[in-house]
Amino acid sequence: MSLFGTNGVRGIANEELTAEMALDLGRVIATLKPGKVAVACDTRISSQMLKSAVLAGIMSAGSDAIDLGIAPTPALQFYAKKNQIPGVVVTASHNPREYNGIKFVQENGAEFFREMDEESERVYVSKKFRIAKWSEVGKLLTDDCIENYVSAIVENVDLKRKYRVVVDCGNGASYLTSPEILRRLDCEVYSINAYPDGRFPARNPEPVERELELLKRAVVDFNADLGVAHDGDADRAVFVNEKGEFVSEDAMLALMAKYYVEKSRGGIVVTPVSSSRCVEDVVKEAGGEIVYTAVGSPVVAKVMIEKKAIFGGEGNGGFIFPEHLLARDGGMSIAKVLQLLDETGKKLSELIAEIPRYHMIKGKVACRNKEKLLSMLREEFPDANHVDGARIDFEDGWLLIRPSGTEPIARIYAEGKTKQRAEELYNEGLRILKKALE
Ligand code: MG
Repeated sequence: MSLFGTNGVRGIANEELTAEMALDLGRVIATLKPGKVAVACDTRISSQMLKSAVLAGIMSAGSDAIDLGIAPTPALQFYAKKNQIPGVVVTASHNPREYNGIKFVQENGAEFFREMDEESERVYVSKKFRIAKWSEVGKLLTDDCIENYVSAIVENVDLKRKYRVVVDCGNGASYLTSPEILRRLDCEVYSINAYPDGRFPARNPEPVERELELLKRAVVDFNADLGVAHDGDADRAVFVNEKGEFVSEDAMLALMAKYYVEKSRGGIVVTPVSSSRCVEDVVKEAGGEIVYTAVGSPVVAKVMIEKKAIFGGEGNGGFIFPEHLLARDGGMSIAKVLQLLDETGKKLSELIAEIPRYHMIKGKVACRNKEKLLSMLREEFPDANHVDGARIDFEDGWLLIRPSGTEPIARIYAEGKTKQRAEELYNEGLRILKKALE
């Protein structure tokens, strides 16, 4: 199994991801990209420990380490882009409390792409990193990445109306940015769980609907226009409409994609093959083009650069606005949704009602022989999209079978216009998988 997963290194803090590993990972990035490296972390209990080790590793390799303290992942990424230096984020994003993670960021603000993580892993495993002479050990610097990030977002958006917004920071890093972004956009802001607490006493860091009862109630009680919740490192944002109803992340992705394509009268939208057909429907309808990638935000960003895409994102609340940053950005997502409400004069529930509805079923099956599965899928479905497993599209739905990159399982996604069609497609997926694994 590889050390680097879809978004860097993840594991249970002090067991699977130790201070020793963090030290070496600091050395790895400073060896690959010598000079200066910026480091930020989320609010997890283990984050300061791991950040300190990363900083020490960077300095021991002879680079200067810039400690940015606690910050949302996109704030560190925006700092990296602005200063053209690489970065490291200590965060396990949406994972449960006991986890932490270390993710590398490029000088352009994007996450490390797959091949860069592979190179990092080679340096890590071989321990062929630079160790500086005593006189060449790097300096420890400090800086702030919050102010520039917040003001860049606020400058992007101009609202004619005043909005009432409830924001659930979930005790993660967004407590530093999202309430402030909303205040500067002249909104009436109600913040919940807007203080740092690595025990995450209010809810899990992943903002799934069942964790957001308080937010939904608050939107209704305060008669708000919008509710928003972030994951632990605030690169993702999910929304609640003015009626206090959770909006599916896929519908939100489609809504934003539609807005971008309509605004630029065409253009390319990039999304993983696991995304709902509703995104493709609205993009094509508006005269745009959809490009599918493998699953994972780094590859979405990479393809967005290659294709000069106008917008990209995943169906989990991770939206990429390339004019601002080539990475998922929860703070910017709030600003863009408000801008959309402002320009259309419609309520969020009205806008979402215009998005086509599908039913999706997801599941997984044990699968050890991934190569065999992939070659069988290529043989049996030559016309499918093979960018990540096989996505087979039909008139009224689609089916995706893909082996997981990190676990010995294969995932099945089936989506149809009706629940019954989704179930049919899902069962077809199970049948294909069983045959392939015989
Ligand atoms: Mg995240």
